[in-house]
Amino acid sequence: MKKTIAVTTLGCKVNQFESASFITGFTDAGHEIVPFSGPADVYVINTCGVTARAGQQSRQLVRRAIRTNPEARIIVTGCYAQIAAEQLVEISDRQICIIGNGNKHLLVATALKKNLPELTMLTGNIGLQKEICRLPVRRFRGRTRCYLRIQDGCNNFCSYCIVPYSRGRSRSLPKAAVLEQGELFREQGYREMVITGINVGKYGLDLQEGQDIYSLLDALCCNFPDMRIRLSSIEPTEVNEQLLTTIAQHANFMPHLHIPLQSGDDRILARMNRRYTAEVFVGVIGKIAAAFPHAAIGCDVLAGFPGEDEAAAENTYRLLQGLPVSYLHVFPYSARPGTPAASMANQINGKIKNKRVRRLRRLDQEKRQSFYRRQLGTSHGVLVERRNNKNGLLQGFTENYIPVHFAGATSLIRQVVRVRFDEIKDKQPIAHLEKDQGKNEP
Ligand code: SF4
Repeated sequence: MKKTIAVTTLGCKVNQFESASFITGFTDAGHEIVPFSGPADVYVINTCGVTARAGQQSRQLVRRAIRTNPEARIIVTGCYAQIAAEQLVEISDRQICIIGNGNKHLLVATALKKNLPELTMLTGNIGLQKEICRLPVRRFRGRTRCYLRIQDGCNNFCSYCIVPYSRGRSRSLPKAAVLEQGELFREQGYREMVITGINVGKYGLDLQEGQDIYSLLDALCCNFPDMRIRLSSIEPTEVNEQLLTTIAQHANFMPHLHIPLQSGDDRILARMNRRYTAEVFVGVIGKIAAAFPHAAIGCDVLAGFPGEDEAAAENTYRLLQGLPVSYLHVFPYSARPGTPAASMANQINGKIKNKRVRRLRRLDQEKRQSFYRRQLGTSHGVLVERRNNKNGLLQGFTENYIPVHFAGATSLIRQVVRVRFDEIKDKQPIAHLEKDQGKNEP
C-alpha cells in the first residue's frame, strides 16, 4: 500500500545528501513524499548534534511529528540520534525508531517494515564502523546544485567537536562508486556538483593505495567536463601544491575554497587540538591568493572558545582582517557534552561570546563587500538557480561564489550563462547578461 512519507533534515551537506538518498529510496519503492508540516504515515527526522541548539531543534521536530499525526511511524536518525538516543526516547512513550549514522542504508527498509517493535534502536558503536553507508541519490529536490558525499567520519578529534563521536572514523566511498553517483547526477541534468564530506581532505586514506582527494578531484573534473565541480570545504592541512595544481589544470574546478580557521591564536589553536599555527594558516591563504587572485576564500571561525581572553580574540580578529579572504562563517562556541573542551576551565560567558560574534560578523560583511568591489567589471559564468521573489531578477552563483542577480528569461534557470558583474546595489551584486550566450561552458 502506498504510504505518505515526510522527511526533514537539519545540519550539514552530508546530512542533506543522506536525506536525498532516503527520498530516492522511498520514491523508488512507490511511496509519496509529502511536506513535513502536514500529515504523513511516516516521519523521518535527520538530526544534527553539532551545537546545543541543533539538539534542541532535533527534539522539537520529533515532538512536532508526534503532534501532527500521533499514529504515524517516527524514524529519527543523524548525529543527535547517534549521541543522544536516550533523550529522544524520553520525549514520548509511543513507538519511535532510532537509526544511527552507521545504519542509514537500512533506514528505508526499516521504515517500511510491516511490524516494527515498539522501540527500535539501530545505533550500534559508530566508532567501529569500517565501511561508509552506500546511499545512492537520484534527485536533490528543489536544488540546482547537487551535493556529492564522498567521505564520512573524522579522526581529528578537535577538542570542541562532537562529530567524531557521532559519525565515527574517516571512511571513503570508493572512486568507482563516486563516479557512478556523478553519472546519476549528470543524467538528471545537474550542472554543478558540490563535493562534500566530513573531512574530505582525508578521502581515500582508508582505501587501497593511491586513492586520495587530489586524484579523485582530478577524475571528477575529467569525467564530467560539462559540470562545475566545487569543493565544499577542506582543512588547511590538506591545502598544498597538489591541490592548487589540480585546480589550475581544470577549467571546470570552481576557484572557491572554504577553509576552517576556527582561531587565529596559537594558544587557543593548541587547546582546540587544531594541527596548524596562525602563521601556517596565513601561508596557506597566501599561496591560494597568489595562485588564484580571483578565487573566493571562505573561512570558519569560532568565537568564545574556553580560555579565549581579549588578547586571543584580538589575534583572531587581526589575523582575519589582514587576510585576503572573501567571507567568514562565524559560530559562537557551544559546549558539547562528551568533548574535552566542554570540561575545560575558563568557559566564556554568553554576553562576551555574542559581542565577539557580532564583531566578526561585521568583519564578514566588510570582507564580502571588498571582494565584490574587487570583482566589479569582470565577466563570469553563473549557474542560474531561481528568480528572486523580492526583486524579480534571476539569481545564481559565479564560479568564485558571488551571489549575482540579473535580468533574464525564466528559461535560463538551471543553465550556465555569462554575465558581466558591473554594480553593487544595497550590498547586492548586480550583473547583466552578456550578448553571445551561444558558447556552452562548464
Ligand atoms: S576536523 Fe575537527 S571540526 Fe572538523 S569534523 Fe573533524 S573533529 Fe570536527
